[in-house]
Amino acid sequence: MERSFAKEIELLKLGEGEVFRGEGILAVTKALLQSGVAYVGGYQGAPVSHLLDVMVQAEDFMKSLGVHVEASANEASAAAMLAASITYKVRGAVTWKSVVGTNVASDALSNLASPGVLGGAMVVVGEDYGEGASIIQERTYAFAMKSTMWLLDPRPDLSTMTRMVEKGFELSEASNSPVFLQLRIRACHVQAEFVAKDNVAPAISENHRLSGPPRFEYGRLAHPPATFAQEKLKVEQRRPAAQRFILDHKLNEIFDGDLARIGIVVSGGLYNVLMRSLMRLGLADLFGQTRVPLLVLNVTYPLVPDQIKEFCAGKDAVLVLEEGNPAFIEDAINVALRKADLQTRVHGKDVLPEAGDYTAAVLTAGLAGFLQAAKPAGVDLDDVARRAGVPAEIRRKAEALVGHLPPRPPGFCTGCPERPVFSALKLVQRELGMVHVNADIGCHAFGTFKPFNMGNNILGYGMSLASAAATAAIQDRRTISIMGDGGFWHNGLQSGVTSALFNKGDSILVIMQNGYASATGQQYLPSSATSRFGEAPGMSIERTLKSIGVPWLRTIRTYSVGKMVAALREALTTREKGLKIIIADGECQLARQRRLRGENAKKLAAGERVVKPRFGVDDEVCTGDHSCIRLSACPSLTIKPNPDPLRSDPVASVNNGCVGCGLCGEVAHAAVLCPSFYRAELIQNASWLDRALDGVRRNVIRALAGPAPARPADDGVTDIKVAA
Ligand code: SF4
Ligand code: SF4
Repeated sequence: MERSFAKEIELLKLGEGEVFRGEGILAVTKALLQSGVAYVGGYQGAPVSHLLDVMVQAEDFMKSLGVHVEASANEASAAAMLAASITYKVRGAVTWKSVVGTNVASDALSNLASPGVLGGAMVVVGEDYGEGASIIQERTYAFAMKSTMWLLDPRPDLSTMTRMVEKGFELSEASNSPVFLQLRIRACHVQAEFVAKDNVAPAISENHRLSGPPRFEYGRLAHPPATFAQEKLKVEQRRPAAQRFILDHKLNEIFDGDLARIGIVVSGGLYNVLMRSLMRLGLADLFGQTRVPLLVLNVTYPLVPDQIKEFCAGKDAVLVLEEGNPAFIEDAINVALRKADLQTRVHGKDVLPEAGDYTAAVLTAGLAGFLQAAKPAGVDLDDVARRAGVPAEIRRKAEALVGHLPPRPPGFCTGCPERPVFSALKLVQRELGMVHVNADIGCHAFGTFKPFNMGNNILGYGMSLASAAATAAIQDRRTISIMGDGGFWHNGLQSGVTSALFNKGDSILVIMQNGYASATGQQYLPSSATSRFGEAPGMSIERTLKSIGVPWLRTIRTYSVGKMVAALREALTTREKGLKIIIADGECQLARQRRLRGENAKKLAAGERVVKPRFGVDDEVCTGDHSCIRLSACPSLTIKPNPDPLRSDPVASVNNGCVGCGLCGEVAHAAVLCPSFYRAELIQNASWLDRALDGVRRNVIRALAGPAPARPADDGVTDIKVAA
């Protein structure tokens, strides 16, 4: 990865009593080290990528503690690592994005949870549920319930989060069960501080190895008949032990308030938003004082019925706050209260939406609805209604001022190597007709947005070709599946390519080979040009495909739009049967620019020549039909007023964000558009030859077209227009 985490790594080294100031996910990473983990693994995904990114870059420091760090090939590999904690009293943590990653890891998790663990085993899941999510709207809660794994959902406060990591390992060991630590976007990115402790070097580790395995024990295998006994252990021993631990160690928190006849049971991750909403209604202050008593569930599964009953006893009504559906917590609380014959009314999804995340605006409205229903003494309900209406009023006024703002969909970065493939596909479809496109997870999914709108289905990470199995069989024209190199190594090789070859599938796969897992922060892949060890891992997609017998294979530079069009055309029309794969090769532009920025800064400091390409549009040639914009969709390609007083159509224009990838020129050429694009080079620390050439060119232009416009004082930068 091209980003440096040097500053973050220093925070991991803090000792007892020092103050850690930083981001939530980094605090969790530090807490893992304070808990004495012997191994850490995972698969990148928002919002928890940093955990592994930082540990991977802190290789030497991890080695000094004896912590083994593994950048797993996928979430299943990461989950399987936890096997070490089944047999040995070692603590370990793995991480991924949930629920997608938990789906992939599910088999291993079932087989982990059944025999249980001796050493603490923790899965740190990033759960970006809601409107900001980049995944499907499911929740880890269901996985925790079905596998009997405990679910920690700490309130987003660094001291609480780090305590819950440390206590989470103890909980895991006290109940012999693996635990999830669920972190939402809000928790991962919260900026705050906590008082650090010393890191703990594990007793058993890479630095202190065991001389051999323990005595064979059948009960440690998730295999019948041991599984029958394990099922009983889960409910008869492990769950009660966990509930005892949660109570004894006060993992859930109670905040008292004077409105004793009502209360709120809130899943920990929602605490900050709840406090903001209570403040808006005049029922809490900035320092955490609340008038409504709160039971904050830092552990949302298992619930502790005795604690719920104690909190609800004597209250007329409680509000249960959990995002999404089913209403697992609300339903369980209802059952606990009914079994105890307590008549406290339970509100939740009756005053709050069943779907979507609970933003402050949503929660404020829901709280107001709860208060109107519960009618607690000592609350001015008219004032609550007035305050609850304020956000909508602000919104209405803003809309009246600025009008309706269109949503801004995400899109490819400027110069992205994947955009040209969609431009080529657009051109081919113009010629041959529309094709069914199986989309996938990754940056290339931006191709589903305007102006490309390509993708008829997305079935998961690396699953596009597998999803073509039936669609290809019912289409006249071959289908095209798009997959990234990240998706290929994660899953696509087995699920897609192997299956298609095995079944003699006759469709097309385009693999975007940009060299990184780009969408998650440019982590290295098995086919990257380098790795965290400083050398290429040595695995090649092309060689792998050849070795398993892919009959039709082309590797094409993505920016060569004409060649890409020809390859797609051939793949769609050839009589040759079988799987056809195009490797679309081009380095992730974001990673490339990050790398070049550092390299160029060094060159400039050393007085060396630096050349940056830029593209431009000749105002006099541009016809103003904007086909180039519709075909390439580059964010640097925009419009400006036509300088010709006799023409009113705005002309195309390239802004300073251009990275000189050349797509606009290529696409203009491949689509036989106007020849208005030119390439220029921005040269810093120009050589004498550059200056001489510039002088000659300016003289020729002056002779042909009259004097050039005045230049600013020589700043060492020379613009050279080199090609039309
Ligand atoms: S991160 Fe890289 S691959 Fe992803 S959109 Fe940006 S340039 Fe393209
Ligand atoms: S304006 Fe053209 S050359 Fe510049 S980044 Fe966009 S597509 Fe590439």
